[in-house]
Amino acid sequence: MPELPEMEAWRRQLDEPVSAFPIVKAGPAHIATLKTFEPPLAALEGRRLDGARRRAKRLLFPTSDGDLVLLVHLMSAGRLKYLATGAKEPKRPAFRLEFEGGGRLVLTEAGAKKRAGVWLLTPKRAEAELAHLGPEALGLGIERLREILAEDSRRLHSLLRDQRRLAGIGRAWANEIIHRGRLSPFALSARLDHEEVERLADAIDAELARGLELREGGANDARTYRVHGKLGQPCYLCGTPIARVDYDEHTVFYCPECQTGGRLLKDRRLSRLLR
Ligand SMILES: [Zn+2]
Repeated sequence: MPELPEMEAWRRQLDEPVSAFPIVKAGPAHIATLKTFEPPLAALEGRRLDGARRRAKRLLFPTSDGDLVLLVHLMSAGRLKYLATGAKEPKRPAFRLEFEGGGRLVLTEAGAKKRAGVWLLTPKRAEAELAHLGPEALGLGIERLREILAEDSRRLHSLLRDQRRLAGIGRAWANEIIHRGRLSPFALSARLDHEEVERLADAIDAELARGLELREGGANDARTYRVHGKLGQPCYLCGTPIARVDYDEHTVFYCPECQTGGRLLKDRRLSRLLR
């Protein structure tokens, strides 16, 4: 699933083209993709978008008159693209906006399952829709992070992915961040000492900023990730082969040397079954 760096890179790409011209045609939308009926999509026609915003892993397109907000959640397989005038369009997009002059904003989703969502909302309802989200992970700061870690003692990997606690991190960037912070993915959040919290705060900013820069430059997953999905490859800090452990429906990647004092972590799902 695209996370903060990927979504922010897309937002920056879309910001200018989507606001250049008014919308002439809104839709069609796949029945599973469009999550709202009122106001109808046609209410967008004749209005101009005021650029692209982002909150956590969602993109927001407010209309310039301030009346409506188009909210897009791409989930795992959704992709949102701006197509210039004359550019070839995918056959059956899940959602589509056409602008004056022929530019289009097109949402596609690979696979048969339609999980991505589009909502057309009033600003007040959009705010309510996003109210459960924690603060943005990038630029959070040490003090705010310390409070979040202390509020709820959880395994670090699980806490960082919890959008209600802090927003924008998923399993891939959780792996990169915890590795850079040289912490165990299973460390209990409330037990981190002062210096470890500082390291984690630095790692969150450094990794998300690194990811954003690479994604803006068009880097693919293989070039962007250094730990996530890199089982058996040498750790970029110490050369030890990266290990993996299954936890909480997720696969966690880590360096045993840098993060767990040389110990291999036990598969939590398996040990639960054997207990
Ligand atoms: Zn290492």
